[in-house]
This record gives sequence, structure tokens and C-alpha cells, in this order.
Amino acid sequence: MSGRIGVTILGSTGSIGVSTLDVLQRHPDRFQVVALTAHRDVEALFQQCLSHEPAYAVMADADAAGTLRDRLQSAGRPVEVLAGVTGLEQVAALPEVSYVMAAIVGAAGLLPTLAAAKAGKRVLLANKEALVMAGPLFMAAVREHGAELLPIDSEHNAIFQCLPPTFATEGLDVVGVRRILLTGSGGPFRVTPLEQLSKVTPEQACAHPNWRMGRKISVDSATMMNKGLEVIEAHWLFGASLEQIDVVVHPQSVIHSMVEYQDGSVLAQLGNPDMRTPIAHALAWPRRVASGVALLDFTQMAKLEFQAPDFARFPSLKLAFSALEAGGTAPAILNAANEIAVQAFLDQKMGFTDIAAVVQYTLEQVNPLAITSLAVILDADAQARMIASDWIFAGVGGRS
Ligand code: NAD
Ligand code: MG
Repeated sequence: MSGRIGVTILGSTGSIGVSTLDVLQRHPDRFQVVALTAHRDVEALFQQCLSHEPAYAVMADADAAGTLRDRLQSAGRPVEVLAGVTGLEQVAALPEVSYVMAAIVGAAGLLPTLAAAKAGKRVLLANKEALVMAGPLFMAAVREHGAELLPIDSEHNAIFQCLPPTFATEGLDVVGVRRILLTGSGGPFRVTPLEQLSKVTPEQACAHPNWRMGRKISVDSATMMNKGLEVIEAHWLFGASLEQIDVVVHPQSVIHSMVEYQDGSVLAQLGNPDMRTPIAHALAWPRRVASGVALLDFTQMAKLEFQAPDFARFPSLKLAFSALEAGGTAPAILNAANEIAVQAFLDQKMGFTDIAAVVQYTLEQVNPLAITSLAVILDADAQARMIASDWIFAGVGGRS
């Protein structure tokens, strides 16, 4: 193989996956796409295989893998097609791959992302749910196997850029960090009258004012559960205590997050809201390369606003703080219940404000346990999914 860096993209057909391919395409001399993966969208992965010529393609769904294999064969393309979680784990750990973009949405990303960490890869982490579920286990795998963990979530990438390189070995206190300030836009319902929230539609919830993203994270942004998951993510990524993390609502999404130091300095990372910036940063780190993102025009920026988050409007954010405080499997329970609730809302089985109700109910019903193994996490995840589904589909709990 050439001197290029081999890259696997887990979840290549999604919003982050497509942005990653866009950045990679700008640097064909540096990077080589080795493997692409998707859930069951055969057409999208087929087209990506034609354009990017990976050696491997994986479909999580076995039937879809069969269809993709036939189509590639008919088209005369020499792509090896694998299937299922084992296929995903396999391409995350290939010897010819150095960088793995973890961009599967939800708990489905945990095992393949963990496989990349255990294979000692540079893991570009977009799949925050994996870290929320399995924080201590995942961070231990990164340390034990010498993986490099680079955050893709724009806030965490911003914080990473505002921290000195020694933070990971010395800890936040030693390098003089007082607080991490996670910014969030407040989503599409920041000023919607509260009494209208129960009636908002999936289309309204997915119409984010600043970012174009997959549907699940778009709904999470509307409830601000996304920010809650990001608080938990920041805890594990940076070794920050609950007291060291604050959320600031910043509707313009120009500042992507900030770090406040003991000497009164606050460092911020700014840029246009386009995920290709953090993706390019993590691909090139510690260098910088072009991302295709338009530069900020300060003369066009009317104002930057900041507000405290409103927990009455965004109860999911509060629930995430509580889950982090409860510890153990509580964040995995929160995440699983939220995934079920968001899907039920997107499928119009329940209203927007039911999402937080489902998550709260599930957290009350399932006892968090200490994380002693992956099995404990997967059990908590499965149990929470059952309880949340009961609330939604059998009317058990809060719903009449
Ligand atoms: P998306 O829905 O657009 O794409 C998800 C990808 O995962 C697709 O390729 C899909 O085929 C694959 N996938 C879905 N279910 C799967 C399964 N069961 N098994 C295997 N693959 C599966 O999502 P997205 O917006 O790109 O988000 C991906 C991840 O990145 C999420 O964890 C999200 O929180 C995070 N993230 C996204 C953004 C953004 O701007 N989109 C920003 C920050 C973080
Ligand atoms: Mg984010």
C-alpha cells in the first residue's frame, strides 16, 4: 500500500459520514478510504463504493449486505462485502487502517467503536452515545491499547483545541482549568411558548436553526438531551467533574465551546457551524488542513448572545446531569430510554414532551449498577429499552 493513511468510516452514509468523505476527498494524497459501512441503505453505500473505491463495505443488516454484494459484483467492483456487528468490528480493526471515524448513531456504535479502540487506532469519535454508555470501560480500552481519541462533536473538539496537550496526563486541575463551558444553540424551540411544545411535529423538531444533522441528534438538540449527553461525554473525555462543566446557551453557534482557566483567561474556539472543521482537525491533528468550510466574516456577525439553560423548558438536560451524578449504568439507562423515546416521537407514536417523561420514568424504574463489565452495560441498555417501550406502547407508567 502507498504511504497514505488508511481510514475506516463507520456510518459513512450519515451526515457525519458524508462530511468526512468530503474532507478526505480534498486530500487524496494523504488519506485512503479502506472501509465504508451503513445500516441498511444499499443504494447509498453502493454509490459511495463507486465513488470512493474502498476495499471493504459493511452493511449491519445481513439481507442488505447480500443485495450490496450482488450489485457490486454486477458492476464489476472488487469490494469485499461483510455483514453485521462482526463485520463492523472487523473493519474497525484492520491492520491497514490507522484512523477510524466512529459515526454510527446511537448504542449500535458501541461495539465497533470499542473494537477500534482495542485495536489501538486513532478514533475520531462522533458517536457520543458509545462514551455515554460505557465511559469508564471505553477510556480504559483507549489507555490500555494505546489508541488516540480525538473528539468530533463540535463542542468537545473546541474544548480539545482550547486545552494544553498535557491535560490528559496531568489532569484539568494541574493545568489550571476552572471550568469547561459547553455551548449549545438551544435548538428550534428555544423561544417557542411552553404550552405549544407538546404539539410540535418531528419536522419542526428536526429543523435545527444552525446545523444540518441526522434526525436522532436533531431531536436531541430540540430537547437539549444532546447537550446532556455532551456533558457526560465531556466528563469522560476530559476527566472533568460535574462541578467543572457548565452549559451556556449561545443561539448563534459561532463559539463552539470554551475553557475557563484559574488566571481568568477564557479560551474559545470559533468557526462557522460546519462539522467539516472538527473532522479536518481530528484527521490532521496536530497539524491543520483545509476543510472546505467558509471562513468567519466578523463584519457580518451582528451579535453573540449567551443565556443560562432553562431546565423547565429542557427537562432532558436536567435528567442527564442527574444520571451522571447517579453514576454506574445510569447514563446507559438514560441513553437507551432516550433512543426509544426519540424514535417513538419520530414515528408519531407520542408527543415531543413525552420524550423527557419516558426517560424520567425509565430512570426511576431501573436501578443503576456499577460498571464492572460490558455485559452489565448491555443488560442495563436492554432493560431500559423494555421499560421505555412499555411506557410508550403499553401505557405502563405515566400515560393513560
Ligand atoms: P445519521 O443518522 O445521519 O447517520 C447515522 C449513520 O449510522 C448512517 O450511516 C447509518 O447507516 C448508520 N447506522 C444507523 N443505525 C445503525 C446500526 N444499527 N448499525 C450500524 N450502522 C447504523 O447520524 P449523524 O447525524 O451522522 O450522527 C452520527 C453520530 O455523530 C451520532 O452519534 C451523533 O450524535 C454524532 N454527531 C453528529 C453531528 C452532526 O452534525 N450530524 C454532530 C455531532 C455529533
Ligand atoms: Mg455537539
